[in-house]
Amino acid sequence: MLRKKLIAGNWKMNKTPADGAALVAELVTAAGKQTDVDVVVCPPFTALDAVGKALDGSTIKLGAQNLHHEASGAFTGEVSAPMLRALFATHVIIGHSERRSLFGETDAFINQKVLAALKNQLKPILCVGETLAEREAGTTLKVVQTQLEAGLQGVSKEQAATLIVAYEPVWAIGTGKVATTDQAQEVHAYVRGLLTKLFTEPVAQRVRILYGGSMKPANAPELLTQKDIDGGLIGGASLEARSFLELIRAAAAAK
Ligand code: PEP
Repeated sequence: MLRKKLIAGNWKMNKTPADGAALVAELVTAAGKQTDVDVVVCPPFTALDAVGKALDGSTIKLGAQNLHHEASGAFTGEVSAPMLRALFATHVIIGHSERRSLFGETDAFINQKVLAALKNQLKPILCVGETLAEREAGTTLKVVQTQLEAGLQGVSKEQAATLIVAYEPVWAIGTGKVATTDQAQEVHAYVRGLLTKLFTEPVAQRVRILYGGSMKPANAPELLTQKDIDGGLIGGASLEARSFLELIRAAAAAK
């Protein structure tokens, strides 16, 4: 199979180091040796160290939820790619819609982060997606195209092969409203087409495109069997071992 499914948990601003380590201990016991599905957990910065230690020796990878594009300097409150690497993070979520809407992150700023992550051998999980107003105005594909092309400026073909894209319709995040499989597959196929234009067909065929937005054990099997849906970026359902493990199993079954 060309693309192994990937299930990534975005814990957002939840869990202390102790809570995170306890959750991950359950995940490691149940799924820490499996290799059918790639699994990544993305705790808040403060829990990265404890969670990383709890993951040690397992196949589950560690990701961060954000980074600053500079390596060091006078950027109060920020965390850089080399700092994340020092904690053994391998992935980083970039351009989540909450960062865009609540913290004013622009496509140009997000692009700098993508480049910094790649330069430091961190795999970016670049999030794109339309708001409800944009979907209703019929501009979904245009919005996604702009976010993707601007976010990936200056990325080489070689670098693009390690990239992960998450299509997250903003109206489906944390709302319980999930995109229909047709809606999701349409955008995923479109994203793959854009990646083909940007980086060639073989590269586009290697990039994993995750769906995010109220993915739960009940709706995951149908989403995960769509041709261009290569996994999920999971918010709410990643905060409990039971639901997250069910999503890993759903991804394994959808191979
Ligand atoms: C997310 O925040 O990336 C997300 C998909 O959240 P939820 O699964 O809770 O909708």
